[in-house]
Amino acid sequence: MLASIITVGTEILVGSILNTHAEYISNKLNDLGVHVNYHISVRDNLEEMEDVIKEQLKKVDIIFLCGGLGPTADDVTKEALANVIDRKIILDEYQHQKLLSRFEQSNRKMTENNLKQAMVIQDATLLDNKWGVAPGECIEYKNKKIFLLPGPPKELRPMVDEYLTDYIIDENEVVIRSLNVAGLGESVVEDRIRKLNLETENISINTFAKFYDTEVKIIAEGHDRNSLIEQVDYIANKLYEAFGSKVYSEGNISLNQTLVDLLKERNIKISFSESITGGLLASQITSISGASNVLSESYITYSNETKSKILGVKPETLESFGAVSRETAYEMAKGLKQISNADICVSTTGEAGPNPSEKEVGLCYICYYFGEDNYKIVENKFRGSRNDIQKRVCDTAILDLIL
Ligand code: ATP
Ligand code: MG
Repeated sequence: MLASIITVGTEILVGSILNTHAEYISNKLNDLGVHVNYHISVRDNLEEMEDVIKEQLKKVDIIFLCGGLGPTADDVTKEALANVIDRKIILDEYQHQKLLSRFEQSNRKMTENNLKQAMVIQDATLLDNKWGVAPGECIEYKNKKIFLLPGPPKELRPMVDEYLTDYIIDENEVVIRSLNVAGLGESVVEDRIRKLNLETENISINTFAKFYDTEVKIIAEGHDRNSLIEQVDYIANKLYEAFGSKVYSEGNISLNQTLVDLLKERNIKISFSESITGGLLASQITSISGASNVLSESYITYSNETKSKILGVKPETLESFGAVSRETAYEMAKGLKQISNADICVSTTGEAGPNPSEKEVGLCYICYYFGEDNYKIVENKFRGSRNDIQKRVCDTAILDLIL
């Protein structure tokens, strides 16, 4: 089955809000095996909306019309749909009573335009809105389904969660498994996958580049669920063989979560002395519940003075090699080990830019210090904005600790 998601509202097209409905609904439909072919945003304009609906009715089986169900004059989604499919808009008595008692309870007077929210398309199945006022609607038209959903995300999302599966039953079963691969560029990942020749008529393998990693999504469609699971597992195993420990997690388990889980499992404590990352590394770890089991402390030693005072970095080292150097990174991590009980002490130092000072922008060093005979210093050169570079340093440190 094919679907279109039409989001209504001038505010989307002028860039005032981000169209998150398209993402939310697509995600859910994907899991149900429905292919989303179009994301369309249209202004609060009757004619333009009619054109878009007419066009999409020729192309897909399911249409989502999101937003513009409110009481104001610019909310014309229902009118547009009613005109295109030639149905009346009628007053729904149940919705009317609900609206009246809502106003009564809050001691407000209902105005004429509020009545609009009790008006529905003839022969629509109403989707009760427990999170707001305007009901959703599901309309059957020439073997197609059209959903009308209210615009506010706090109403649309729970309605999608509650009603979608009951209203969309695809004969196709869909099994999805996604592997997160880090430390390799998307083109390398893609190339290796193509060479394995694993795709079949009913199974696709897609790669999606993210900030620091690549998601590899295996999607199998067919009728026999157990056989699909078997096929997907077979492919996943082949991918594990091809990428080894570079597959750091599956599904929506983040890099941060993976590290916290791993350290917890092995009962390892970690500490940071951060310069270029300014606390971001600690922030990423503490954003995960259970971080207190693995993170001892993090010092933001941003100035040369605190690098010496807190971590004991020698002024001569800073003088001769600079703050952004292999030597400073080493002394920062080693110094941290003197004052911390952690098993692994990690330091970050680098040039985040945008204006170069001591060293070239993007150059950074990370030192992982386990003990005097056991440490590793990594040099990297990153590109991007100041924030990009800081984020890359964090993710690289976390990745190095995982892999
Ligand atoms: P209301 O009764 O609140 O007017 P409505 O069904 O008419 O509801 P809209 O007026 O289109 O819906 O949108 C209400 C609010 O919901 C918008 O101001 C916006 O904040 C949010 N919203 C609408 N469309 C989207 C979208 N595609 N993605 C994210 N948020 C959206
Ligand atoms: Mg509105």
